[in-house]
Amino acid sequence: KVQENGGNDCEFYSWVLDVHTSRRQRLENDLHYAIERGELSVHYQPQVSLKTGKIMGCEALARWSHPTYNMISPDTFIPIAEEIGLIDKIGEWVLVQACKDLKKWQAFGFMSLKMAVNISVFQLNKADFRQKSINTLLANNILPKYIEFELTESCLVQDLVMAKQKIEALNSLDIRVSIDDFGTGYSSLKSLQKLPFNTLKIDRSFIQNVETNPSNSAITSNLIKIARSLGLKVVAEGVETVGELNFLKQHQCDGIQGFIFSYPLPASEMTNLLREGKCLKIQESLL
Ligand code: C2E
Ligand code: MG
Ligand code: MG
Ligand code: MG
Repeated sequence: KVQENGGNDCEFYSWVLDVHTSRRQRLENDLHYAIERGELSVHYQPQVSLKTGKIMGCEALARWSHPTYNMISPDTFIPIAEEIGLIDKIGEWVLVQACKDLKKWQAFGFMSLKMAVNISVFQLNKADFRQKSINTLLANNILPKYIEFELTESCLVQDLVMAKQKIEALNSLDIRVSIDDFGTGYSSLKSLQKLPFNTLKIDRSFIQNVETNPSNSAITSNLIKIARSLGLKVVAEGVETVGELNFLKQHQCDGIQGFIFSYPLPASEMTNLLREGKCLKIQESLL
């Protein structure tokens, strides 16, 4: 029956499925060799102080340039790396690059720059993560206080007691820890209350049209207040417009990251921004 009338459809759908599976399989296979083949790189997105308008640090973001599929988003390949057990290797490689680039910027005189690095819960849960991290910083002559590990809450809430121990262990080394994409996971306030973070990063979804969207305004202004009263710094993610920027400035958010100031950039372009002394223009009436 299927052969008579539906045959072509079936073939079509199985073909689509094949293409999808084979792409996914190729990504899995190729990710194993991506570092050796020089396909991975790290881009840096500036974090800007709303007090001074100056670059206070940057976030390291992994990039994969695949020979056939070109740029693969980290939202695609990081979960694959986690699934096939490559995240430790990739995460470690990113940290090394970030340390080397930070060292270079320090040598150029940008001494107070902070470097934020995303850490997967799979890395955090490895027994030797803390030791390996500190070894990497030592080997690259980077003081821990300049490094901030970004953790997403969805992966932490499963075991708050364990997460607390892991974060305290990083705190005791003087490595800073931030909670990333805040508000998008579960039990947000519980993790904020129980875990010793230094910085809260408000998710981009709450920042979008924050000055005109009443629920985003309410959530963002109160998140800033909560963070402040718990003694955390606040960084807003994904700031794209002047309206959003002004709102955040008015509500005393500490810093921003977003396309309004800069896209994530290769290290060389980040160096140029630093040397130019690029500053965020904030309306004078707000300063
Ligand atoms: P994230 O840590 O929340 O990083 C911020 C993401 O928002 C980045 O996407 C950045 O390019 C994007 N972004 C920044 N400003 C704006 C803006 O104004 N508008 C919009 N629309 N987007 C903005 P990216 O680089 O694609 O990274 C996506 C996610 O992949 C990251 O989200 C992080 O969770 C993960 N990731 C990236 N690199 C690594 C890594 O080395 N290790 C781990 N574990 N995860 C990583
Ligand atoms: Mg992040
Ligand atoms: Mg984020
Ligand atoms: Mg994210």
